[in-house]
Amino acid sequence: MSQILQAVRGMNDILPDEASFWESFEEVIRAWLKGYGYRPIRLPVVEPTPLFKRAIGEVTDIVEKEMYSFIDSLNGDPLTLRPEGTAGCVRAVIEHNLIARQPQRLYYMGQMYRHERPQKGRYRQFHQVGVEALGFAGPDIDAEMILMGARLWGDLGLEDIELQLNSLGQAAERANHRAALITYFEEHADVLDDDAKRRLHTNPLRILDTKNPAMQALCGDAPRLIDYLGAESLAHFEGVQRVLRDAGIPFTINPRLVRGLDYYNLTVFEWVTRKLGAQGTVCAGGRYDGLVEQLGGKPAPACGFAMGVERLIALIKEAGGEPAVPAPDVYLVHQGEAASRLAFRVAEGLRDQGIDVLLHCGGGSFKSQMKKADGSGAGFAVIIGDDEAATGEVQLKTLREAGVEQRKLKVDDLATAIIGQIIDSDEEE
Ligand code: ATP
Ligand code: MG
Repeated sequence: MSQILQAVRGMNDILPDEASFWESFEEVIRAWLKGYGYRPIRLPVVEPTPLFKRAIGEVTDIVEKEMYSFIDSLNGDPLTLRPEGTAGCVRAVIEHNLIARQPQRLYYMGQMYRHERPQKGRYRQFHQVGVEALGFAGPDIDAEMILMGARLWGDLGLEDIELQLNSLGQAAERANHRAALITYFEEHADVLDDDAKRRLHTNPLRILDTKNPAMQALCGDAPRLIDYLGAESLAHFEGVQRVLRDAGIPFTINPRLVRGLDYYNLTVFEWVTRKLGAQGTVCAGGRYDGLVEQLGGKPAPACGFAMGVERLIALIKEAGGEPAVPAPDVYLVHQGEAASRLAFRVAEGLRDQGIDVLLHCGGGSFKSQMKKADGSGAGFAVIIGDDEAATGEVQLKTLREAGVEQRKLKVDDLATAIIGQIIDSDEEE
């Protein structure tokens, strides 16, 4: 017996009902981004492995243990399935000199890949909407990005998504804090888990991001980066907060918010919900002023965020959002050779008028076709038999409204009749 093949663990098929829901979600996203002047950029799913090592950082969860990296067996190139979008976006911006003349507001959506343990809200192939603004230095763009989030939750009908905010300052400030942090953790070496011990001298800041309950108290009392920030960094942070206060957006400053990637500085933020269990971060981002230069470009400030699509969709459903199952306007029933030929012409004619038509394919009795018409969710059945074909007429039957008689119509009058009836029933509602 031949073996049944299955999808790779942690990589999900998104079936038609679900995918329709995703499409309506994506429409909301595109309209929202357009409202803030963001333009799309489409990037490869595969990038050279060194890009991610350099951008994300060698001592991060992603690079240490989550990347799908492989050698292209045909030419020996080291490649990686993108675990996030910022690195590729910055690579493209540098490669095509996009910010030479003016700053850019860019967005993308698509698959990301991380070799994690699959669980609710955590998959090996997942989707992000990524938003990046390159060439803007001030706190205004950081604040605008946060306002964008707040508006989107409203557009999607989501409540109780809390904003957490922190500032990671600049490299020199982090270096001073880092020294204090290492001393502190060394004094409490007995409490450190293996991950923390390994990170102590490579990336101690990331220890604060631990999910290990046994280390929470220790991390809670650790020296706070915010106490090491200089006047300029504090002013930037204050600038972000001022806009948020003006806009009435509540936030919590979380001194332990450090983000899982190395490229961040100054403002970092996360939008978090309690409704999805442990996987509660639906959107995360911040400023990454050093990345463009680090990847070989002329120094340029930048800021961005990414949203987890699976988690947002789960949240929309949790809030009672119904997947919209799209139905055709018309199901076209036909039997007999002359009728079938007319059916194709009628269907194309209706589509010319903007009417969605599901043309029955595969034959069968009128009765079985009418059953399919009912099941399709269409508002109308158009019925053509050989009698109708001979006279150039068709039957129009209303499927979702009681008390409307089946009518015989000339083919040329069909579209007008259908559109008229759709408008009438819309007005009644
Ligand atoms: P986490 O702490 O949950 O691992 P992260 O810090 O690794 O998140 P980011 O790299 O900031 O996540 O990615 C941005 C968003 O993408 C996350 O807030 C989350 O919504 C989503 N995300 C990240 N990893 C996954 C995954 N494996 N499956 C589904 N969504 C994910
Ligand atoms: Mg992660």
